[in-house]
Amino acid sequence: MRVLGIETSCDETAASIVALDHAQARPKILSNVVLSQIAEHAAFGGVVPEIAARAHVEALDGIIEAALEEAGVTLEQVDAVAATAGPGLVGGLIVGLMTAKAIASATQKPLLAINHLEGHALTARLSNGLEFPYLLLLVSGGHTQILRIGNVGDYQRWATTIDDALGEAFDKVAKMLALPYPGGPNVEKAAASGDPNRFAFPRPLKGSAQPDFSFSGLKTAVRQAASAIAPLSDQDVADICASFQAAVTDTLADRVKRALVRFRADYPDRKTPALVVAGGVAANHAIRTMLEQLCAAHGFSFVAPPHILCTDNAAMIAWAGIERLNAGMADPDAFDFVPRSRWPLDAASTPVIGSGR
Ligand code: ATP
Ligand code: MG
Ligand code: FE
Repeated sequence: MRVLGIETSCDETAASIVALDHAQARPKILSNVVLSQIAEHAAFGGVVPEIAARAHVEALDGIIEAALEEAGVTLEQVDAVAATAGPGLVGGLIVGLMTAKAIASATQKPLLAINHLEGHALTARLSNGLEFPYLLLLVSGGHTQILRIGNVGDYQRWATTIDDALGEAFDKVAKMLALPYPGGPNVEKAAASGDPNRFAFPRPLKGSAQPDFSFSGLKTAVRQAASAIAPLSDQDVADICASFQAAVTDTLADRVKRALVRFRADYPDRKTPALVVAGGVAANHAIRTMLEQLCAAHGFSFVAPPHILCTDNAAMIAWAGIERLNAGMADPDAFDFVPRSRWPLDAASTPVIGSGR
């Protein structure tokens, strides 16, 4: 089975062909083409929805052609078309889903309207062949969540952010310090030569019985520290970044630890359960090292798919399509599906048909 995946929910225009040969049992990524719009948005310090939608319109056809060519597959040899249908920026979602509808209807192939978060949730099965159930920490520019992944369509959100996403907090801190966009990698780079103990930034919700995340208070504390020193020297910037990263890592550790303990209690028979990390923030070395140590201390295996599959891509969308087809969960009314800017993953458990949020 070969599925064409299309992803346009944010600032990456992506297309991919993923194949699953039942004799081999392991899926194969035949192509995974990702065009980042970072350059288009850099001047604005963040993603501009209108610019993103237009860039998707201009790029998508060529990206799909490139994905087919790289895979050595024609549209006729594709068995189904899967596209991200939400959550995300609605302009981009419309471009991707409408293109998928057009291709699927012209070639008379099944169409799958995929939840972007389901793509992230199932990636570890594509990259590592991981078995259900497992725990997922999703940390990206738009999401900060802990989910129990029980099966295809069985997702339970245990924690989410009550304000900013973690990647968003990295990006905003970078902006305050005049570091280039996207902020995450630049904050990490600056932090490497900084003193993590110079600023005692808050650890939001640390120790709280509430399982969720919060980053806006921490962001405000960073803003206050930065504006108290003017002008900022390179060392000041490095120290703020290091102190911010330490606060984030510390608070994340506390939140994830709660989830590991809960998962262990829910699945007492599983010897070595897995924690999977996804999203762009997973690239951060301090956070990764902390997660590795936490998993080792709690008897969990730590699964980090390759970076290209952790950030937004279309292979994960094609793969979610394959998983849904295999589970007999393809939605016969997908052609009527209206893109959704908001679409919690829990709601993807039962295929919701038609419009609405
Ligand atoms: P979505 O939530 O829809 O997946 P997204 O496109 O913003 O949205 P990703 O592409 O997965 O998500 O990740 C981008 C985010 O990851 C940005 O906020 C970026 O700053 C952050 N990021 C990337 N590298 C690092 C790093 N080394 N340290 C911290 N954050 C990072
Ligand atoms: Mg992105
Ligand atoms: Fe994403």
